[in-house]
Amino acid sequence: MKDKNIQPIRGMSDVLPGQTYLWEYLEDTVRAWLQSYGYLNIRTPILEKTDLFVRSIGETTDIVEKEMYTFTDRLNGESLTLRPEGTASCVRAVLQHNLLYSGPQRLYYTGPMFRHERPQQGRFRQFHQVGVEALGYPGPDIDAEHIIMCERLWNKLGLTGIKLRMNTLGSVDCRARYRERLKKYLTPFGNKLGDSVRNRVERNPLRVLDSKDPALQPIIDGAPRLLDDIDEASRKHFEELQATLRRAGIAFEINPRLVRGLDYYNLTVFEWMSDKLGAQNTVCAGGRYDSLVEQLGGKPAPACGYAMGIERLLALLQEGAAVAQPADVYLVHQGEAADKFALQVAEKLRDSGIRVIVHCGGGSFKSQMKRADSSGARFAVIIGDDEAQAQQASLKPLRESGEQIRTGITEIVDMLRKHHV
Ligand code: ATP
Ligand code: MG
Repeated sequence: MKDKNIQPIRGMSDVLPGQTYLWEYLEDTVRAWLQSYGYLNIRTPILEKTDLFVRSIGETTDIVEKEMYTFTDRLNGESLTLRPEGTASCVRAVLQHNLLYSGPQRLYYTGPMFRHERPQQGRFRQFHQVGVEALGYPGPDIDAEHIIMCERLWNKLGLTGIKLRMNTLGSVDCRARYRERLKKYLTPFGNKLGDSVRNRVERNPLRVLDSKDPALQPIIDGAPRLLDDIDEASRKHFEELQATLRRAGIAFEINPRLVRGLDYYNLTVFEWMSDKLGAQNTVCAGGRYDSLVEQLGGKPAPACGYAMGIERLLALLQEGAAVAQPADVYLVHQGEAADKFALQVAEKLRDSGIRVIVHCGGGSFKSQMKRADSSGARFAVIIGDDEAQAQQASLKPLRESGEQIRTGITEIVDMLRKHHV
């Protein structure tokens, strides 16, 4: 007996042609936007050695503790992981190829990321990110650039209601001091917190601040604030960033509880949140990670970056933000001479930048015209043996009124051009 259909993996989706045109619109817009700031594309493998993520994201983070797709390579016993985010791979590649030797780098990547989370609206196991990393820049000028460029993208995409929250985690030392203070504050709440939270307090107390559990909110609200005990250089960095954003007219809110879920951050952290997405409302998040390059074995180099969730951006795109782009011409042909001539005509039209679907599979003119209609093309170009003999074709508008006209191929190209095809 035949097996039941094989199902896709939970939390991983197909994107079909009814949706991909929106993805392509977003991807094209994003690429042009990144290029307008001088960022260059970097592509790294989807699989990396597990250790890369453990060492960078941090052993006690949600991602590393429970969200990674990790498996053993059958052939050599190595532990491998599907990338849960892009920064670690990007830094690894930069070090591998010594890119910082020629100066600081502005880079971006796009692609799928994998996290074993509970699938729900806005949260998937395979999702897609656009990530931006600037390596070798101490900031705060580059921190400001990152935030300003995000605002430009929201405007380009016509997205409204996306709000910026920022915080500073201070220097690495300052963060370590804060960790101890926070631990002292949280430990007495021990029994109220439950095992998993108690465990967090022990191993990574900053993560408690990141919790979305409403029961914890009063405890979190009363926690000491990192901002109140920050070194002078960090304060200055943060103030300069704020001043630049004010000059650029960018509204922000400072949220002293914002810590981000990955261990490598310091100084500036930020998130852009939408008021239209329900619970999974962070569309973009990032900050500085000045110790990561060294932590992964490089010469110390300051850095900052951010990543945005493509699915969440797509959910915000207004209806009609982009329209599907069917071919310009559907080429209908019947008869031995016509079939041969049609292929030449199609290539000639394409030489002029016209997008052509050539009918395949034979059939009557009538049935071919039906296909032409449902293809969405604006015009049919029709070739029978008569036309082929005369090296001509007929042009028929499908979406607007107008006569069918029989003429030479060059004339057809000109007429299509006149219609802005
Ligand atoms: P969240 O708080 O939503 O779990 P995060 O802090 O884990 O986010 P980051 O690692 O900073 O997220 O990833 C950056 C962006 O990638 C998020 O703001 C979000 O838009 C998107 N993202 C993260 N995880 C998922 C997921 N499982 N499904 C869809 N998008 C995601
Ligand atoms: Mg998460």
